[in-house]
Amino acid sequence: MQPDSISADTVSGLRRALLDHYDRTARDLPWRRDTDPYRILVSEFMLQQTRVETVIRYYEPWFERFPSIEALAQADEDEVLKAWEGLGYYRRARNLHRTAQVVAERHEGTIPSDPAELRALPGVGEYTTGAIASIAFDVPAPAVDGNIRRVLARLLDEEKPTARWLRDVAARFVFRHRPGDWTQALMELGATLCTPKAPACNACPVSSWCGAYAAGTVEDRPAPSKKRVVPSRVIPLAVLHGAGEVLLQRRPAEGLLGGLWAFPEPGEVGASDFAVSVGLEPIGEPSILPEVEHRFTHLHARYVPMVQEVDRIRGSVKAEGSRWVGRGRLGDTALPVAQRKVFDSWLKSMG
Ligand code: SF4
Repeated sequence: MQPDSISADTVSGLRRALLDHYDRTARDLPWRRDTDPYRILVSEFMLQQTRVETVIRYYEPWFERFPSIEALAQADEDEVLKAWEGLGYYRRARNLHRTAQVVAERHEGTIPSDPAELRALPGVGEYTTGAIASIAFDVPAPAVDGNIRRVLARLLDEEKPTARWLRDVAARFVFRHRPGDWTQALMELGATLCTPKAPACNACPVSSWCGAYAAGTVEDRPAPSKKRVVPSRVIPLAVLHGAGEVLLQRRPAEGLLGGLWAFPEPGEVGASDFAVSVGLEPIGEPSILPEVEHRFTHLHARYVPMVQEVDRIRGSVKAEGSRWVGRGRLGDTALPVAQRKVFDSWLKSMG
């Protein structure tokens, strides 16, 4: 169905039914308790590709550490990454940090309400723009995330919704009087009832307006996108240790885990030769720790940690961007999940 053929009665009836339901049943989530733009901004960055249950654990501690956008703008990147540790997709943390700096530099510390200005902030895409504009500022801007895409495709029984179609439909439904609640009501429907598998149509407040429900095509809307084959790669890691500490290196700013601390990747070279190549003298034979797997969106990484003790008195690391860390001495070093597992596994091996 084309957006302009949706009748005004359908739009108003559906809006009323869904908002009534939202008002009665909305989950009490920490970012719904006020509309402070900084808090909404942080929640939207954290919620990208991360489950609500996970974000809840990080949300309030974030504001204890960075109580305002100014505090975040002034923070050191390592501190920001440390606070983000475990949430994954660290590019979001760096973009959020950069966004805070841009807001401080160009907007006098006030997050802009204008969608065009929001869209220009680092890491703020079309969906995040609509979400922040509508929820924090009551601007009637449409927002389409994965949940809303599914809900709209089912409501209008659309098999293959294009980005353009979704934008137009979302704009057609946007509710000028309560735009933020409307955005959240649609998200909530997608997260709680109109789920990808086994949607609860019998309990759905808008089933009488739902095209896919009427047509019996709910399970097929929207049509599943072709699954990408994610390549698998074995990645050796050099776990060089001495005096109870292990060597980490900061990764290049661009690329996988860009800018984060991680175990060095020696490539084809063994751990002992790698130690020599960075100016350290190996002690004894290398050993191997259990493999650690991690699934990134585009890569299935299988880390093989190769352990080598080194003499830290007779050698010092030549490579730039290196640091030694040990038990209880991680300090502000943020370790991505898989690297943390390797670190814990090394600690365990040390007894
Ligand atoms: S009736 Fe079913 S498919 Fe339609 S919006 Fe409600 S939950 Fe989704």
